[in-house]
Amino acid sequence: QGQGDYRILHEADLRDHLAGLPDLTARLGGDPAAWDITEVGDGNLNLVFIVKGTSGGVAVKQALPYVRLVGESWPLPLSRAHYEYLALSRQAELAPGLVPALLHHDETLALTVMELLEPHIIMRKGLVAGTQYPGFAGDITTFMARTLFFTSDLALSAAEKKEGIAAFAGNHALCKITEDLIFTDPYRIAEQNRWTAPYLDALAVSLRDDMELHVAVSRLKLKFMASPEALLHGDLHTGSIMVTASQTRVIDPEFAFYGPMGFDVGAVIANLLMAYFASAGHERAPGERAAFEAWVLETIEQVWIGFARKFLELWRTAGTGDAYPVSLFAGPQGATRLEAERQTYMQRLFTEVVGFAAAKTIRRIFGLAHNIDFELIEDAKTRAISEARAVRLARAMMVETGTFRTIGDVTGAARKLR
Ligand code: ADP
Ligand code: MG
Ligand code: MG
Ligand code: MG
Repeated sequence: QGQGDYRILHEADLRDHLAGLPDLTARLGGDPAAWDITEVGDGNLNLVFIVKGTSGGVAVKQALPYVRLVGESWPLPLSRAHYEYLALSRQAELAPGLVPALLHHDETLALTVMELLEPHIIMRKGLVAGTQYPGFAGDITTFMARTLFFTSDLALSAAEKKEGIAAFAGNHALCKITEDLIFTDPYRIAEQNRWTAPYLDALAVSLRDDMELHVAVSRLKLKFMASPEALLHGDLHTGSIMVTASQTRVIDPEFAFYGPMGFDVGAVIANLLMAYFASAGHERAPGERAAFEAWVLETIEQVWIGFARKFLELWRTAGTGDAYPVSLFAGPQGATRLEAERQTYMQRLFTEVVGFAAAKTIRRIFGLAHNIDFELIEDAKTRAISEARAVRLARAMMVETGTFRTIGDVTGAARKLR
């Protein structure tokens, strides 16, 4: 079978395809003709079907040869399904229980069958509704600390690390989407840009004229392009996380590649910051969501603090990679110096997290892909107020990054703007 055998599986084809896979028919149960198949994809790129039989269900994701959000005029390689599968496999080893189980992958059809997450919902929807997820910070920090640490030079040999980079280097079309849509287009005139007009018109113009911002975002872009530190998820927003009251599952790693760790951590923090600023637009009575908003800010703090603690602990106990050779840090003096260096490393990473979080925020307000946190605020003026607050903080985080020394500086600034 070659690439030529790819076809988009509509419901009937999908039913036939799955019916030919014994492991899946056993899991689903009942007559394939009676399986319930529904397309549920709400993402920007792919088709996702939920298939249910008499004894169980599965989720089926198929890549399209183009961007679903835009259409056939914007082609996108099917190989992203391969990279998603590869990343999901790696994440399942490194962060067991935090990603859906993989059940089947068909390279030619660019199709992956995985565990049906039920009754999980997309976290972003829960955040819009004002739901708190007390276990989230603990879970996402375990996911990020383990996937990032164990794919870095702190844990791997130089050879293993470079093999890892090579395995994902072909996913450059997905990287290019990030390079254009996050790091470039919001700062220039681009056909796909949109924002809450007319309220944010002036802010959109000021972004295009702001050379300090252009320098800052270009530095971040270069960091994204040229720093293969670890295997990133690459699209770790709250629409790529499914939750229940007590469980967290990370989905949709099709943007995976070796890049700067701060990009993933910054994505989580940016999306929580946007949930915080959007919250004001969702309240029906003043102060109604105060407890939720306090939880969001506390969670932002816990995401950084918990990530840093877990990452450092892994470095201390499993830092067997070729970077920082043990033989160079022998004795008590070496141990002390290495520990100080670890703190310096985390401070540098924090600075990058702050910058990437800012870039991830601005693109959701002026770029192509917006999010429901803001979009579901019906009144445009109310929405613009929330968005403008987020942009004000993001601009400061990007241009005056050094003034944010701790995560408390970020949440403190957010609280002031609310
Ligand atoms: P895209 O790459 O197009 O964004 P996603 O992988 O994010 O696709 O999936 C789109 C939607 O499909 C998700 O928002 C979620 O609602 C649903 N979905 C995806 N994977 C699963 C799963 N394993 N179980 C249940 N629902 C899922
Ligand atoms: Mg998605
Ligand atoms: Mg997406
Ligand atoms: Mg996706």
